[in-house]
Amino acid sequence: MTNVSSLKDSGSSALRHDWTFDKVEALFQLPFNDLIFQAQLAHREHFDPNRVQVSTLLSIKTGACPEDCKYCPQSGHYNTGLDKEKLMEVRKVLEEARQAKASGATRFCMGAAWKNPPAKDMPYILEMVKGVKEMGLETCMTLGMLDEAQAGELAEAGLDYYNHNLDTSPEFYGSIITTRTYSDRLNTLAHVRDAGMNICSGGIVGLGETERDRAGMLIQLANLPKHPESVPVNMLVRVEGTPLADVEEVDGIDFVRTIAVAKIMMPASCVRLSAGRENMSDELQALAFLAGANSIFLGDKLLTTANPKESSDRQLFNKLGINMDDTTKLEEQELAEVCPLREQDALLNNEHYFDAMKSNPMGQKAF
Ligand code: SF4
Repeated sequence: MTNVSSLKDSGSSALRHDWTFDKVEALFQLPFNDLIFQAQLAHREHFDPNRVQVSTLLSIKTGACPEDCKYCPQSGHYNTGLDKEKLMEVRKVLEEARQAKASGATRFCMGAAWKNPPAKDMPYILEMVKGVKEMGLETCMTLGMLDEAQAGELAEAGLDYYNHNLDTSPEFYGSIITTRTYSDRLNTLAHVRDAGMNICSGGIVGLGETERDRAGMLIQLANLPKHPESVPVNMLVRVEGTPLADVEEVDGIDFVRTIAVAKIMMPASCVRLSAGRENMSDELQALAFLAGANSIFLGDKLLTTANPKESSDRQLFNKLGINMDDTTKLEEQELAEVCPLREQDALLNNEHYFDAMKSNPMGQKAF
């Protein structure tokens, strides 16, 4: 029988950057209860165990991505029937951010399906960052690869987090993406860090990878000079038309193990229960929170795939006694004060923008 004090000792949550396969595979091999207990111990040293950080994610430019990530419905290489959209107007983005703040989100994440942000669009991207920041929300973007100068511009505009996932291990990576290399990804993370921004980087479980690949991905993240502040662990959403549409479904317990190991390796990082929640039972999500997940995306849509309804998330949190970070709902009056829509005339009616509301006179979004 494993004794509690030995688990406590081995679960010491000092921040380490020297993880080896042997050590990480030993964690994956622990009896499930011991693993979860150790992850909870690590989690409680750094976080309130009954509090979850809430972000909202908006797709600001959808589809037609030149990259060939085999899991992604936004890749231009696959036909998934997705409606493509140009870069959204700054004003629309700020309106969405305002709604997200009203729903209790503390961080607003904006995602664009690009290989890297085009120079012509950078001024608008920077306006979005400034506008969302002025609302008192934390800002996060995922725009593909960044060079040093772009990372500097985003940091200067006030971007708090940059998301760039490693997706999987270096060994398995080539089976999933061929249009950019693992080193490209690591270089972007280095630029983000050098510019002084927080890193959001994680991966996907269920791509057909082995447990060793999951370990390999976590080793890459945990052995960075500084752990990413945010580590999203996604469960693959199998989308018709992508090459991974029929890949074997990942086992829920294996998924929770990955979260627990991530928490033990990077105990001071927020581990985000990210894509795939729509297909998870309440019980599986509860286990993920027990394993140390303490961040979610709130909202019915995650870029292009479904996410649980906000009301069902709130019900689940009530059942579990989990509080959201800063969930105070602001009244309309207060909202108008914290996030007035800025004059964007110079930025409107520009060829780079797609006004979804204008293109659909019924007032329904075209996506
Ligand atoms: S995951 Fe990102 S980079 Fe890859 S195809 Fe999708 S949008 Fe493009």
